[in-house]
Amino acid sequence: MLTIEAEGHVWPLDTFIDSHRFRRSDGDVPPIARSDWPLACITADCRIIEEPARHVPWHTIIAYRAPELSSHLAQCPDCGDTAEIASSLFANEDGTLILDCPTCGSADPDGYC
Ligand SMILES: [Zn+2]
Repeated sequence: MLTIEAEGHVWPLDTFIDSHRFRRSDGDVPPIARSDWPLACITADCRIIEEPARHVPWHTIIAYRAPELSSHLAQCPDCGDTAEIASSLFANEDGTLILDCPTCGSADPDGYC
């Protein structure tokens, strides 16, 4: 079983990925890869790295997400992918925040209130 060291514990890799809401990439390059904002990524050799998305070595990455408390990136509540707040998060006429996800197109008004 693959494990990963994080937060002072050794986690089963899949448990860590799921419980921390990382999105599996399987070598695909997601839309967020064009961004300059830092992403938290898990490498194929089970390390966590944080790099500007544009500089992430995507062929070595198995999962990624917005860093905790990122003020520039948001997680899509539907597909779990990461989107740039500046270009993807909009306020409705009534002030509700909506994420226009570049991956699944979700605009779920319940996700960000
Ligand atoms: Zn989405």
